[in-house]
Amino acid sequence: MTALAEDQIAAAVDGLLAVDGLELHVRTSSRRKRFALTVESDASVTLHTPQGRTEQEAASFVRAHRAWLVSKLGLRERTRPLNPAKRLADGEVFRYLGRTYRLAIASGMELPDQRVRLVAGRLVIGRHQAEDPAVGRAALVDWYCRVGQAWTSHRLQPWAARMGVGEPALEVRDLGQRWGSYRPAEGEDGQGLMSLGWPLFQLPMHLIDYVIAHELAHVKVSGHRADFWRLVRLALPEYEQRRADLDELGRRMWMGTIA
Ligand SMILES: [Zn+2]
Repeated sequence: MTALAEDQIAAAVDGLLAVDGLELHVRTSSRRKRFALTVESDASVTLHTPQGRTEQEAASFVRAHRAWLVSKLGLRERTRPLNPAKRLADGEVFRYLGRTYRLAIASGMELPDQRVRLVAGRLVIGRHQAEDPAVGRAALVDWYCRVGQAWTSHRLQPWAARMGVGEPALEVRDLGQRWGSYRPAEGEDGQGLMSLGWPLFQLPMHLIDYVIAHELAHVKVSGHRADFWRLVRLALPEYEQRRADLDELGRRMWMGTIA
């Protein structure tokens, strides 16, 4: 390798570059004409670089964009997901409607139908479920879906009446990172479908109510323009605070990862 080549950012091999205390992942591409920076969701930074550029060129590009980078990183840090992983062990803490419950592993008799349940303030799971992460996770998600469905079914009618909208059908299931969604009715007098993600039911009731009111507003207005938020505000004047609390608490909820 010549001295010049050594000074270049490795043309084929991607690596790390440190500039004034910032560490960047370098990704080199022959199709690229200019440098570019991206901040990833895990708050790592990638420097995209054309082939054949020197480390000095890269460093001065990073320095020129330092202010932008620092503000971007600050934002990422403030909104970064902090979702924990859970162990399927006696005493592990799970949340339901904003309260905490400890997991208890049953020997057998306590769970005749093999379904997770809340017994005397403990969330009880079968031993064979606790021993297999995939089975245990599915059993817990099934529990959240069942209790979430039952809890919301009582809540939906008063909210729909208050907002002057028809009551949609309801399902609670895995929606990935979303708390809720609404699908309009197909025919003239069909029923729309509100879907809620099971992790929502870990949160305090007033935040679940916000998601319910939000999705119910979609019965009347699709999209998130001003008329949509006007409708949400009518039903829930303090919705902005609840939405902020949902963002803040929501990123700390368990999303199904088993440690
Ligand atoms: Zn929406």
